Amino acid sequence: MMRISQRHLKILETCPRQFEHTYFDRLTLPVNPAQQAKTQLGSDFHLLMHQRELGLPIEPILARSPQLNTWMQAMLQTAPALFETDAQTWRESEHVRTLEIPHGGDSSNDNYLFTAIYDLVILQPDRADIIDWKTYPLPKYKKDLDLEWQTRLYLYMLAETSNYVPKQIGFTYWFIQSTPHPKSVKISYTLKQHRQTKIDLLALLAKLTTWLDAYRDRQEPFPQVAASTGLCERCNFAARCGRNDLDSQSTDSFTSNDLNLIPILPI
Ligand code: SF4
Repeated sequence: MMRISQRHLKILETCPRQFEHTYFDRLTLPVNPAQQAKTQLGSDFHLLMHQRELGLPIEPILARSPQLNTWMQAMLQTAPALFETDAQTWRESEHVRTLEIPHGGDSSNDNYLFTAIYDLVILQPDRADIIDWKTYPLPKYKKDLDLEWQTRLYLYMLAETSNYVPKQIGFTYWFIQSTPHPKSVKISYTLKQHRQTKIDLLALLAKLTTWLDAYRDRQEPFPQVAASTGLCERCNFAARCGRNDLDSQSTDSFTSNDLNLIPILPI
């Protein structure tokens, strides 16, 4: 069983070779301390919201972190209704759903297991809402959010694994760091979008299956994006891929010690 998350889909669609380097070759690069601190604060906020949903005390955490306290108070003031509940409502943070899709490859019977971890899911008799916390400001273009694999996969999986029809499901991103107060972007869902996501998902999986079979059977590396896309200039694997002027290392030097293994990908 190969686990696939929205992050895997995003990288796979951006550049298959980047996917291979990240998840099969397990190449990692040092993260700068400032970025690491931001990531940690983001994780702490998610943990804080989870703890709050579980009914556990959060005051000691807020007392220790002025930043988390500011974000928490801003959310409570901006969207008090989000934190209210009633007998008709079921809600869960860090809610996990999985969806199995057949592999389809000629050399394996393994299946793909899609996994989604929702920051918060709120279910009512006739409506389902997905809430996602982002600890950075609102991006410039909402259009990008509609196209993100996180948006598409999470909506798709909820529709596929529940009795809600697409038009009953919504996705709301909350951008905690927006000024002067947190801002939200609501994304609605339709049957047409649901069908298109299925088509796109299956097409991407079909390509992944082909690349995986070639990788395991013939030790062929995953394809690279065309240099003309400009992606390589900003990619941390440029040297490894022979796509920068400083290092002309050939991609033919690719090796893998264990090509029979399909790893369980971290999500
Ligand atoms: S350098 Fe280019 S081809 Fe290589 S992983 Fe990065 S984007 Fe892909």
